[in-house]
Parts: sequence; C-alpha cells; structure tokens
Amino acid sequence: MLASQKLAHRAGLEERRACIGPHVSRSQQRVVGRVGKLAPHVSGAPANAIRQTSVVRKLLRVAAAASTVSGAAAEKPTGVRGAHWQVHKFGGTCMASADRIRATAELMASTVGPDSSTCVVVSAMGNHPTSPIKVTDLILNMIKKASRQDAAFLVDLAALQEKHVDTAKLLLGQSPELTQFVSSLMDDITNLKAMLQAMSIAGMSTDAFSDFVVGHGELWSGRLFALCCKQLGADVEFMDTRDVLVVTPTSDGASVDLDEAVSNGRMDAWFKAKGNKKLIVATGFIARSREGTATTLKRNGSDFSATIMGALLRCRHITIWTDVDGVYSADPRKVPEAVCLPSMTYHEAWELSYFGANVLHPRTTLPAMKYHIPITIRNFFNQSAPGTRISDVASDAEVYGGKNTIKGFATIDNVTLINVEGTGMVGVPGIASRIFSSVRDAGINVIMISQASSEQSICFAVKGTDGDAAQRVLNERFADSISAGRVSAVQVIPHCCVLAAVGQGMVARKGVAATMMSALAKANVNIKAIAQGSSEYNITVLIDQVDSERALRAVHSRFYLSDVPIGVGIVGPGLIGGTLIAQLREQRQQLKKEFGIDLRLLGVASSGKMLLRETGVDLDNWKQDLEDKSVACDLDKFGNFLSSHYIPNRVIVDCTASDAPASKYMTWMQQGIHVVTPNKKLGSGPLDQYQAVRRMQREGYIHFFYEGTVGAGLPVIGTLKHLLETGDKIIKIEGILSGTLSYIFNTYQPGMKFSEVVADARSKGYTEPDPRDDLNGTDVARKVAILARECGLMLELDSIPVQSLVPEPLRAVASSADYMARLPEFDADMDAKLREAEASGDCLRYVGVVDAQNGKGSVELRRYPKSHPFAQLQGSDNIISFTTARYFKQPLIVRGPGAGADVTAAGVFSDLLRLAAYLGAPS
Ligand code: ADP
Ligand code: ASP
Ligand code: MG
Repeated sequence: MLASQKLAHRAGLEERRACIGPHVSRSQQRVVGRVGKLAPHVSGAPANAIRQTSVVRKLLRVAAAASTVSGAAAEKPTGVRGAHWQVHKFGGTCMASADRIRATAELMASTVGPDSSTCVVVSAMGNHPTSPIKVTDLILNMIKKASRQDAAFLVDLAALQEKHVDTAKLLLGQSPELTQFVSSLMDDITNLKAMLQAMSIAGMSTDAFSDFVVGHGELWSGRLFALCCKQLGADVEFMDTRDVLVVTPTSDGASVDLDEAVSNGRMDAWFKAKGNKKLIVATGFIARSREGTATTLKRNGSDFSATIMGALLRCRHITIWTDVDGVYSADPRKVPEAVCLPSMTYHEAWELSYFGANVLHPRTTLPAMKYHIPITIRNFFNQSAPGTRISDVASDAEVYGGKNTIKGFATIDNVTLINVEGTGMVGVPGIASRIFSSVRDAGINVIMISQASSEQSICFAVKGTDGDAAQRVLNERFADSISAGRVSAVQVIPHCCVLAAVGQGMVARKGVAATMMSALAKANVNIKAIAQGSSEYNITVLIDQVDSERALRAVHSRFYLSDVPIGVGIVGPGLIGGTLIAQLREQRQQLKKEFGIDLRLLGVASSGKMLLRETGVDLDNWKQDLEDKSVACDLDKFGNFLSSHYIPNRVIVDCTASDAPASKYMTWMQQGIHVVTPNKKLGSGPLDQYQAVRRMQREGYIHFFYEGTVGAGLPVIGTLKHLLETGDKIIKIEGILSGTLSYIFNTYQPGMKFSEVVADARSKGYTEPDPRDDLNGTDVARKVAILARECGLMLELDSIPVQSLVPEPLRAVASSADYMARLPEFDADMDAKLREAEASGDCLRYVGVVDAQNGKGSVELRRYPKSHPFAQLQGSDNIISFTTARYFKQPLIVRGPGAGADVTAAGVFSDLLRLAAYLGAPS
C-alpha cells in the first residue's frame, strides 16, 4: 500500500471507529453518527457541511494531506534527498541574540559530515532579557498601527532595524558578511516603509500585505544564521522557503495545507540551481500561495515548516529545539508540577497541540507522520536533557510505569460556548448539519461539540472572537425556526475555556473520564459541556475561563502528582502549629519519595493574619512571609481558599485551643475539607454541635481526627477506637490525663509544701501561665468528655463532676500572682490528705474517670496503692488504663509523655498520615 493510501485508509478506519468506538459518549455518538451518515466517503469526500466538526475536520485533513500528494513526485525523492538529511528547527528563543545564534550555528556546523547533511529551519528572533519583544509580535503590532494610521509604526520599524543591525554587528563583526546582511536589510526596510506607509494612507491592510511583511522576521534571522555558518567555514546555502513551499489555505482559513507535488518540483529546481549543499539554512513560517503571493503557515508555523522540510527531504530525523526540555504533561508555566514526557505518538502530540499546547504548531506532526520520521523536541539551553521523542509508538512503560492513561492536558483559553436549544429539534434530521454549515459558511472554526442525548440542545465552542459572528449567522439562518418556536434560543456564553486530556492509553481504559470529572468536582470547577473525541484520544470539557488554571492543575495533579496529594491549612502557628510545620519540613521529601504522600502546606492562619499560597507555603520562610505577605485573617476565606484548591484532598489542622476555629469545622467539612486537631473545644463542647460534626463525618466521608486531644501524641483515642471497633466492651477508663498534674503529684512528697511544688512546676513552664487553669480540673474534664463520648456516653461537660484543686477562696482572685501568693495558706489541707494516704501505703493522683458501666464521668483526686501503675509515674507522663471485657483482670495501659509541643505536634502529624492512609497511601 502506498503511504498516501495507507494514510487515507487509516483516516477511514478512524472515521469508522468514530462511529462505533466503545468510549464515545452517547451524546457524541449521536453527533458522530450523523456525521458518518452525511459524509460517507470521508477520505476523498468533497467539502460538506459536517466538515466543520473539529474531529472530523482533523481526520479529513490527514486524508487531504495524503490525497494532495500527486503520485510520482511524492513517492520518489530525487537523488539529493534521503536519509542522510537531518532537519533541525530553532525557535525564537534560540535565535534571540548574537550569542545564541552563534551557538546554534556552531552546533549545526558540527552535525554535517560525509554521510550527513543538515537542513536548519529558523524562527524569527524571539525575546531576550535585553530585548523583551518577539520580532514577529513586533511586526504584527507595527502592521496594526500602520493600518490604524498610527505613525508610531515608524518607531517599531526603526527598532527592528536597530535590533537586527546590532545583532549582525555582534555576530558577524566587521566583515563582508556584515556588509552583505546590512545592505539587504536596508533594502527590505526601505520597501517595508513604503508598504506600511501605503497601508497607513489606505487605513487598512490585507492578509497578503500582512503576510508579506510579517515574514521578514524569518528572512532576517535566516540570513544572519547562514552568514554566521559561512564564517564558520560551512558549505552552506540560504533558502528563502517562499521559493520552495507552496501551500493552500484550509477551508476555515485557520491553517494551510502543503501542495506537496508543486513544492517537490520547486525543491528539485532549488537544488538544481544551488547545487547539492551540506548545510541549508531555511526560513521557517513563510511560504507562497498557488497564486504566487507570500503567505505564512500561521503563528508558531516554523515547527510545521520544519516537518514539511523533513518530509520533502525524506530526512531521517527532525529535531525541534526550544526553551523547555520537551513536551510536558501540561504547560509548565501554568502547572508547576508538569513533567517532561519521554515519548509520545504523533496522534498524542497532534491532539495536545490542537488543544492549545503551544510548544508545537498543531499541524507539525502531519508531514512527519506521513513518512514515519521521528521528531525530538529538545531544550537548546539544557542539551543534556534527552527531550521528547514523537513517533509512531510511545513507550508507555517508560512513562510512569505505564500507569498513566493520560499523557497531557492543555487548554484553549477564551472560547465562547454557543448553545442552540429547542424542543422542536428533537428527531428532526439535518439540524446539526444546518448549524455547522452555517458556522462553516461564516468561516468560523468549531473547537468542540456536544449534543445532549435528548436532542433538545446542541452546543459547541468557538474562538471568543468568533462568538458574535456565530450567533449572528445562526439567528439569521434559524430565524424561521425561532419564530415558529422550534428553536427557543441561540445562547452565547462567553469567557469559557476548553480543557482537554489527551492520551492514546485511554482507548483501552475505563474510568478515565470519571476520574477527571471527580477531580474537577473536588476543585469546585463547574463543567458546562463534555465531549469525548471520537478519535478516543481525548476528553474535552468546557469550563469557565476563570477556572482554567485551577482546573488544569486539578486534573493534572489527579493523574500525575504523587499518589496522595494533600493540601494542608494550619490554623494557629504557635508552639504546636509551629512545631508541626517544622516536622512537615523535615519529613516532606521522604514521605513523597517513600509513600507517595505529598503534604503541601497551602495556608497558615494566626489570630490576626493569614498567608495563602496556591503553589505551597515556603516552609523555610513561612514566619517571615506570614509577617510580610499575609492578609487579614478570615477563617471563612481560609476555608474557601482550601476548598477551591486544585489539590483534590484538603485538610485544616486546628492547632489552637480556641472556640473560633472549632465553630468552623462543620462548614469546612461541608466544603469537603477534612479536619485534624488537638483542640478539645469541639470534642468536649455542646453535644449538638459535636454530634452534628460526627454525623457529617460519617455521612460525608469526611475525616475528623483528634488524637492530639487526649494524651498528646500517645495513642489513646486510636487505642480506644480499635477496642470498640473490634467489639470489645469498655468498662472503665481511668487516667492521669494532665501532664501538669502528673508532674505535681509525682513530685509532691511528705514534708514538701504543695504551694512550692506548684511554683516549681510553674517556673519550669509545665503549667499554664495561670496554674489555676490546670488545677481547676476543667482541662481533664474536657478529656473525660471526649473519651466518654467516644465510648458512646453522650456527656455534656457540665455533667462531669470535677474536684477542683483550687481552694474555694482563691477561685475568684484576680491575678495569678495573687493566687500564687495566697496558695501557701492552704498547704495544710493538701498536707493532711497526703499524710492520710501515706498512712495506708497509698499515694495521691489526680485522675479523670469514665465509668462506662454506670454512664458517668468524673475528675477527682484519688488514692492509689504504691504498687499501682499510676503510682510509678514519672515527670509529666500521662497514663491511661482501659478496663474492658477483654482486658478485665489486667487493664490495658497506655503510658508516656503526654504534654509538650513536640509530642503533641507528632500526634497531629500522625493523624495527617492516618488521613493519607485513608485516602489511599500505601501502609
Ligand atoms: P519556540 O519559540 O521555541 O517555538 P514556543 O514559545 O513557541 O517556543 O513554545 C515553547 C513554549 O511552549 C514553552 O516555553 C512553554 O512555555 C510552552 N508550552 C505550552 N504547553 C506546553 C507543553 N505541554 N509542554 C511544553 N511546553 C509547553
Ligand atoms: N515567528 C513565527 C511566530 O512567532 C513562527 C514561529 O516562530 O514558529 O509565530
Ligand atoms: Mg513555537
């Protein structure tokens, strides 16, 4: 089979698959099905209405590319062409300064040898720190100004002249080559000035004028490059590709097709005239129409020029040099985590560029695909990177162990959604055809289509600038149907964006679309329309333009980030919160590497300020950033920020001891945010609020972890849950639950003064600033409430009797200093209790008790025999004993440090890891 036939055949296959493909959605099948009926002879079909549908039009282009090859000229390259050729294309950034042009020229001169010839295709000079505007942009602006009769076009022309003369001087030095370049440049500038002045007088420009003018960027950079190669001693010839490439515009005028037969003939003629050169420097971007006028291959067209040259030369390989390491899984400027793809198929590259990845001109792959010439995208500024190889096959095994069905994501920004709706459309044949032929006639390109299976509406996306024209033409053509009420409206929704996921691996996989949609839902992105390309290589969704970047990041993170990305917000960056951030900083890389858990701190809120960072808070400088770059704290905004973040799992860690954040848990959880906290306020607060949160937790599959509320980092809640979940019956929980009171009673011995022990604990920082906050027993009571509720005893805090250790007369004393000063007055009371205990071989311990059997909780000073585990405690350790049906004779004891920022933060951290495990991290 001839290559051209093969391609037409493949396009035919594609077309058939489009009609029957298992992954085509019902709505899409409907559209495509009709397409199939209306365009039965796709590979050779003349234009018809449905050619306007993007998918079919693309397929037709392939067929057209194949069918325009006229026999012998296409199949039999003449002697000078063949696999000894390589093509290299340099993008604007590689051509942006004299140094860069010299470096590229040197690299190219080194590629030629006895068996190797090189064709270099160059773009116009791009931007550079010293000259921020791209030449092509500058020229296009200049044309606009001239046609608006703005005399400033002369300033632009002078800037262009200066930029190229300066570059030539630096590149070529005082030499005959410099004279040659500058003299031809000056001729061009004189001509351009005359043309622009004519445009300015007429107050308009035509496409032909504009195309002629804009192509000078490539002419000048090409000449500079060729002259530099000449100075390097290369056997080089400059090729003005307008002498060789002949193209015809596609029906929508958005692109061009190569007239391969004519171009081949011109290529032969060129070689005849110039001889068999080793190094050709060809202009990218520019070509000629069949009528002989100068034209272009449209923006970014030099990539397309390169593969056209490769195809005409039948070269063995095409390298496209640019400023990134290759094709990324998403635009690296928009998605910081994007990864460079080692390989992809022509189809994947084609789809990705069609849907907006401007690393390649959308048509770039077609000529290479036709002759099976591999393309490598490489970074000129990082030549050690292997780049992305685009060919017939992509080694998916190479890419993330083959686990990713989606190769990449791209967006087409600023599109308009047109919705044609009406009950009278149901079952009426030819509606789709009429809609799309109308927009085709208006020269409007359709980017994506979706039809609801009820047939009551057809919606499609067009470029934002085409929206009004599309609405106009549809209102005109459907005026009858509208007045008869068959079509109720032609609705125009501007400011939308098309987001596409591309990957050949989707063909054989289920659930890809579901995963993508759920990632968008979790990121709070509303989807207006969905289409799955009939090529089966893409899924496209239409969303609001404002959601574009967030949506892109959300879907990318779902398919490409670590297995479990979690966005973390910390409220209360004090002692515990600050320690947690330090622990996160230490562990982050290891967690990512070993367990695929990516804990990313997105926000920090203190009582007055908050720092919100879309791509993550800088863990080294967060304190400073919170000082300098924060906004006023607003916990609702904090929640909104996290809930709409693109990272699919989000958690707020409340490290405060206050009511304000606790009162927001419910709202946050409703927004899909998990909550982790050592704050006891919710767990021991009003029962209705507590129960509402727990209900939400169960019903909404939202996690609420609070291990740090009892025993700091000790596994107290976890142990209790485990006992209950495995069917054990809790009889009693008894524990020394306060580190402060543990220290005080572990230290207090006969002969000591209780007030002195309290003062000592206070001086060591073991107590709250006012020790009464520990000694009044409320904190222990809160822990008792939490433990009791965990056992199913729905106790309110005030129903737990608490034996306060603050003597009655001192409870109302204003300052803690006064309290401390008067405490010795009551030493005798405590001394009496201690002596009494000692007399019977006991010690005093301040404990919290959950008496599950009797449904009660209490906080009290109890006596324990000296052999009891509670008597053995040291320092500020906590101890909790669980008496259960299983652990009846000998209770289950958890013991260890139960206070301090380090262990509390560690407890919170372990909750975060538990959350990661629940969300799918490996154990
Ligand atoms: P050149 O001038 O070399 O043709 P372009 O600016 O046209 O370079 O294309 C390269 C740029 O494309 C990159 O700098 C990158 O910002 C952007 N880009 C967009 N999408 C992608 C993608 N998926 N992979 C790589 N680059 C991308
Ligand atoms: N110079 C042209 C442009 O900027 C073509 C290219 O660089 O690919 O669009
Ligand atoms: Mg480009």
